[in-house]
Amino acid sequence: MHIATPPAPCPPSTAHLALPFFDDAHRALAEGLVPWAAAQEVDETDDRAACRDWVRRLGAGGWLHYCVPAAHGGALPALDSRALVLLRETLAYHSPLADFAFAMQGLGSGAITLAGSPAQQAHYLQGVARGELIAAFALSEPEAGSDVGAMQTIASSAYPSGGSGPKGSYALTGTKTWISNGGIADFYCVFAKTDPAGGTRGISAFIVDADTPGLDASRHIHVMAPHPLATLQFTDCKVPSDALLGEKNGGFKLAMRTLDIFRASVAAAALGMARRALAEAVHHARQRRMFGQTLADFQLTQAKIGEMAALVDSAALLTYRAAWLRDEGEKRGGTRVTAEAAMAKMTATENAQRVIDMALQLHGGRGVEVGSKVESLYRDIRSLRIYEGATEVQQLIIGKSLLQE
Ligand SMILES: Cc1cc2nc3c(=O)[nH]c(=O)nc-3n(C[C@H](O)[C@H](O)[C@H](O)COP(=O)(O)OP(=O)(O)OC[C@H]3O[C@@H](n4cnc5c(N)ncnc54)[C@H](O)[C@@H]3O)c2cc1C
Repeated sequence: MHIATPPAPCPPSTAHLALPFFDDAHRALAEGLVPWAAAQEVDETDDRAACRDWVRRLGAGGWLHYCVPAAHGGALPALDSRALVLLRETLAYHSPLADFAFAMQGLGSGAITLAGSPAQQAHYLQGVARGELIAAFALSEPEAGSDVGAMQTIASSAYPSGGSGPKGSYALTGTKTWISNGGIADFYCVFAKTDPAGGTRGISAFIVDADTPGLDASRHIHVMAPHPLATLQFTDCKVPSDALLGEKNGGFKLAMRTLDIFRASVAAAALGMARRALAEAVHHARQRRMFGQTLADFQLTQAKIGEMAALVDSAALLTYRAAWLRDEGEKRGGTRVTAEAAMAKMTATENAQRVIDMALQLHGGRGVEVGSKVESLYRDIRSLRIYEGATEVQQLIIGKSLLQE
């Protein structure tokens, strides 16, 4: 059996749990999670099968309960950013695909948690928390990635001239692409234009079950690291009026609110991968002998390890700050942490890319050998600098927020 999640040379450090960002509940969460994650062995040869397997395991382990609020089978009264950050960091340390499977359950169902009707929440969220329903979030299109307002998928009134269909139903037509869990999801939160002239104010969200006639999710996209991804084709795909999620034409705000919660957790995923690369580098440098000593004995190596550690810790502090600020803000009725989350996402993903590259360099030829951990991390990290807002988009968010102050 090919196991694409080789055991880590050591468990992730838990020193950061002593930081004031975390409380006893977070420490208890990490105490259970760290050994659980280290004990999992999943064959990741087929990314779709592996992702299903991870969702099932994460559900059985109780970890998906952190993706939904307690009223719908969740672990805590509301989504807790610091719990999400700890979960993603730890899972990504062991398997970026495990982290992905976890994150997509939260992101794919996040809009339902935030704006779903009681019936929608009751229908979907418990299944998500138990790992019985796989969720997906379908916003991007071939001509509308960073520029969401350029979206072309239309949700029109399905029976405009008094036809035979149920009153108020919608017909979706258009293409969504780069959709994580595309083809394996049980339902999709889909964003489409209900007022094509309205720009971002003309977008609405819908829940579309995977088996809805007119939805084709069979176009699998192959990417450089394991990640189930597909293009979705909607052709006169009819959904009932109660598939509308939140307010009509309120879809853009809902998408941004959902992404706001999860942006700091993308940073955490990158952080987990960077911590793993650093652990691999330290382990290798101590073992590898050359010129009569170990690689670790050279000052150039020590300097490199020092730089990597500082890159990791600076990313960690920004990530934990963003999560802590959001959780504190929620206690007071909600505070936007858009700029802080953007700083965390930008810094953690960019730093992780550098740390992983440096770790690979320290491994020499072994670093590029397929199957080595640093080689797979080198591929795993790349897309995090693009999705949920590319680095350039994060720079703009941060810059604009400062200039508007
Ligand atoms: C692995 C993966 C998983 C994904 N999963 C999902 C998903 O589940 N759901 C979903 O809806 N989407 C998903 N996406 C899509 C992702 O959100 C988009 O790829 C992203 O928003 C960028 O859009 P784009 O690819 O069209 O690039 P473009 O918008 O064409 O941008 C190209 C590049 O231009 C630069 N750029 C962007 N804006 C600016 C600017 N204002 N100024 C200067 N430069 C700029 C950036 O470097 C960017 O990478 C996923 C993508 C990947 C790679």
